[in-house]
Amino acid sequence: MNRPAPASPSRLLPLLALAATAILLIPGTAGAAAWDVTRHQGRDYVTAKNIKNFYRFATLGVSNGTIQFRSPKIEMKIRNGSDNLYINRVLFRLSYPVIFKDKNYLFSRIDLAKLIDPVLRPSFIRSGRRFTTVVIDPGHGGADPGSKSIYGKEKEFNLRLGLLLKRDLERRGFRVRMTRDADTFPTLGQRVVFANRVPDSIFISLHFNWFTRRDAKGLETYALSPQGAGTHNDRGPNGRSLRGNSRDSENIALATAVHASILKKTRANDRGIKRDRFTVLAGINKPAILVEGGFLSNPGEARKIASTAYLSLISTGIADACVTYRNALRK
Ligand SMILES: [Zn+2]
Repeated sequence: MNRPAPASPSRLLPLLALAATAILLIPGTAGAAAWDVTRHQGRDYVTAKNIKNFYRFATLGVSNGTIQFRSPKIEMKIRNGSDNLYINRVLFRLSYPVIFKDKNYLFSRIDLAKLIDPVLRPSFIRSGRRFTTVVIDPGHGGADPGSKSIYGKEKEFNLRLGLLLKRDLERRGFRVRMTRDADTFPTLGQRVVFANRVPDSIFISLHFNWFTRRDAKGLETYALSPQGAGTHNDRGPNGRSLRGNSRDSENIALATAVHASILKKTRANDRGIKRDRFTVLAGINKPAILVEGGFLSNPGEARKIASTAYLSLISTGIADACVTYRNALRK
């Protein structure tokens, strides 16, 4: 995003609308807000005030170290020094923490261009185009079981969810292709090659999580790390552009729609929309995300994931989000 036109009072934030019917109209103000870019430690930053003016938030306030942007239907907040950004109470992990310098709170330009902008106004995504087909990728399979709970193996839950999702997407008029629909193991490379050949499609990889601490629980949704930024657990930036980086804006918009929709259905703990360079996200030329639908290592969540009722909630959450995402792109 170089020098975008200021946010017009058009449809903003359809991906995260609090109410189902909410279409946000931010009151227009005269005068364009240009971006004031500040260098810090070799990176470009913009001020919170600049963001407030550009997106025409009604107020920007700071209290007890928390920076808060507000409009009637959008609330965006973050603690100074933190990388946990909440937009309408959904958690996003920024590529770089917010900093305070020269009396200004600063957001990295990468986070502005690759997260805040496509999330707040997806209809401005230039590469965004219509899709007819969803490629579902149930993770693992065959000789690769993934993680497991006392109720079964991850590969089985991924496939059960994938088959439910196929049905739910077809009911909503989408075509569906699956990287596997049985207990087989296509390699990660084969999954990418398969998806890249499906025209007019988006890609959703399905997984369940595991951690040594049994109290870890909740939903994580991953989009590819943008070029020049690190992953959620490794801040080292990646200089070279991966194939999936051509869809950076769509990736985060799709992740936002899916993550928010699953949370709404399941009321699961929100572990955030995160960044990584998983093989299936890096090599793909479609909008692509990876969903970690809960922790098989958490006794309560493992029991839920073993039930068709809970998998159906995740499935309808994802399917609804595909509709939301498609409509949000439409100009
Ligand atoms: Zn997995």
